[in-house]
Amino acid sequence: MNRLPTVNLHTHTWRCKHASGTVADYAREAVARGVKVLGITDHTPLPDGRWSGVRMDVADLDAYAAEIAVAREQFPQLRILAGMECEYAPEYRNFYQEELLGRLGLDYLIAGCHAFPHEGRWVGPHGQLNSDPVFLPAYAKYIVEAMGSGMFLFYAHPDVFGCSYLPWDAHTAACAREICIAATQLGMPLEINGYGLRKPPIDTPDGKRCLYPLLPFWEIAAECGVRYVATSDAHRPEDVVASIPQCHELAARFGLREAELPPLFRA
Ligand SMILES: [Zn+2]
Ligand SMILES: [Zn+2]
Repeated sequence: MNRLPTVNLHTHTWRCKHASGTVADYAREAVARGVKVLGITDHTPLPDGRWSGVRMDVADLDAYAAEIAVAREQFPQLRILAGMECEYAPEYRNFYQEELLGRLGLDYLIAGCHAFPHEGRWVGPHGQLNSDPVFLPAYAKYIVEAMGSGMFLFYAHPDVFGCSYLPWDAHTAACAREICIAATQLGMPLEINGYGLRKPPIDTPDGKRCLYPLLPFWEIAAECGVRYVATSDAHRPEDVVASIPQCHELAARFGLREAELPPLFRA
């Protein structure tokens, strides 16, 4: 499958403190590449200021929404959607629903796990699992709970645990199966995330591989009937639709079916 991407629903801007480019910079790049739908989903601020080093502040919310509104006027040929990538926790429900979707009027939220609770503390799947299976059931439980909250359009990089759990074994397979079965039952699309393909590959007991997507995860996803969304997870304008064709190729390899999102999110 070698089509040119016309949609990307996962994009970060300078506001999260670890990406570059304004909304207009992304829009200009998207238009130049024939993209039709660009979803901006920067890392959400949290009302308690948690993890503020990698996300905008609550005080930036109005400016974020305004920046998107201005870009919409500047690039009428492109449908620019306003979203946010969210960390799930029950205490943030009201903030997401009333502040982000309500007052701010965002078009959608996506969920992505950058930390999950384990025995009273938050653990980062990007770096803290140390290939220790003790964390995986907590990770899976967290993802399933977030998906069940009903607030999110899709779940981003569900296989991100592979960043710091290096082997593929019975534990990772069970974790993948739990997530994928729940996703299918809930009708929640899972994201094949292209960002992991652009980061340096890592050495694992099974050989060199990309951080994510994890092939065995998506093989299980296909068996479970998961529907997928392919995104670039762009952190700089030139990556606006980067790696999306490779994500579709991966999906085709396992016979995964693309999610049918509402018309707003389709080209
Ligand atoms: Zn990021
Ligand atoms: Zn992201």
